[in-house]
Amino acid sequence: MKKRIVVQKYGGSSVKDADRIKAVAQRICSYKNSNTDIAVVVSAMADTTDDLIDLAGKIAQSPTDREMDLLLASGEQISSALLAMAVREYGVESVALTGFQAGFVTDQVHGKARVQQIDGKRIKQAFKEGKVVIVAGFQGMTKEGEITTLGRGGSDLSAVALAKAINADVCEIYTDVTGIYTTDPRKVPEAQKLKEITFDEMLEMASLGAQVMQPRSIEVAKRFNIPLHVRSSYSKEEGTMIVKSTQKIEDIAVRGVTSNKNEAKITICAVPDKPGVSAQIFNAIAKAGVNVDVIVQNVSHTKKTDISFTVPKADVVKGLKASQDIARKLDAGDVLEDRNIARVSIVGSGMRSHHGIAAKMFDALAKASINIKMIATSEISISCIIDLDKADQAVSVLHKAFELEKR
Ligand code: ADP
Ligand code: ASP
Ligand code: MG
Repeated sequence: MKKRIVVQKYGGSSVKDADRIKAVAQRICSYKNSNTDIAVVVSAMADTTDDLIDLAGKIAQSPTDREMDLLLASGEQISSALLAMAVREYGVESVALTGFQAGFVTDQVHGKARVQQIDGKRIKQAFKEGKVVIVAGFQGMTKEGEITTLGRGGSDLSAVALAKAINADVCEIYTDVTGIYTTDPRKVPEAQKLKEITFDEMLEMASLGAQVMQPRSIEVAKRFNIPLHVRSSYSKEEGTMIVKSTQKIEDIAVRGVTSNKNEAKITICAVPDKPGVSAQIFNAIAKAGVNVDVIVQNVSHTKKTDISFTVPKADVVKGLKASQDIARKLDAGDVLEDRNIARVSIVGSGMRSHHGIAAKMFDALAKASINIKMIATSEISISCIIDLDKADQAVSVLHKAFELEKR
């Protein structure tokens, strides 16, 4: 008889101290039986990754990417080793593997490496020996033997990619909330847990700021149609299924609300309004390695126009420098920055077939005296850039306007 293969991922909040590691180990052991093989992917304990980044910052102004990866990958190695020890304490054979030992081969892009291939041989061998395998998430190794990491939140990606590689029957993502909610339940108490959400909606919510899943992990789950069960490591409650399509006869227009406070706005003033200028500007920004998102160009009445765009806060210095250089070349005006912005977004596949959603969003924000600075849309989302200090209020206002507390 074919055995069931289960992949479980435990996030940093689920293994934050010795007691939690023991609790997670007990949980893993309760699932293990002679018909079930379990591969666990684990994140670094609590804020370990942030603490390591801070520590490096105290030592070097711009540490090398290679050494940063070596440093950060250690967080997951600690938690995987401890978890394997704990599982063994409860009488189940277990082995901890680094990303490399588990067969994760990546490209060379330190800090956001892409998984190219997973050689599941060593995991399968451990299964044959009746062991639970504990894999250090968030990391892999290049063909040349360099340790890489997969970007923040990357253990989610490790879990999904592993589920694909070893043909798992189930991929469970354990975290500190009981599932995916209409909005962050820690910020809005009225948030409702969703029974199901589509890959597209989850990808959109994650990309627009819902920290609960790493966007790239959802891309992979969607590509290979791997349903994910997001649930709490603190309770037995059923969580949320992330699936290809939901069972509802009619799509719900708005499934959730998100906010993102990690963007900044750059404005290049008085740019000559002639063909080719935008291309020159955004080529220069791209060359600086900065991702640009919402772009607004005003209509010009004077042959000059202002161009504004958002960039990740972490890249604002690079973005400003590139903008100032290109502004000088183009004989444009001043370059301004605004770090006090936030993005609030509504997401739902049903937007494709419902009308009046944008108007309702703008109306709700207006009634709360929240000024909209920029607007961006996709097929299944609408985002507004607003003042940073209004972000939390805007999320609550939109959650209420779309009656998400009644879901
Ligand atoms: P982990 O340590 O398990 O990886 P994360 O901190 O990365 O956990 O993600 C879980 C957190 O995501 C929750 O504690 C919650 O505050 C936040 N979150 C943001 N938006 C949502 C949402 N729509 N549904 C559930 N959680 C959300
Ligand atoms: N520890 C890594 C991070 O904090 C990866 C993860 O938690 O998924 O980003
Ligand atoms: Mg996470």
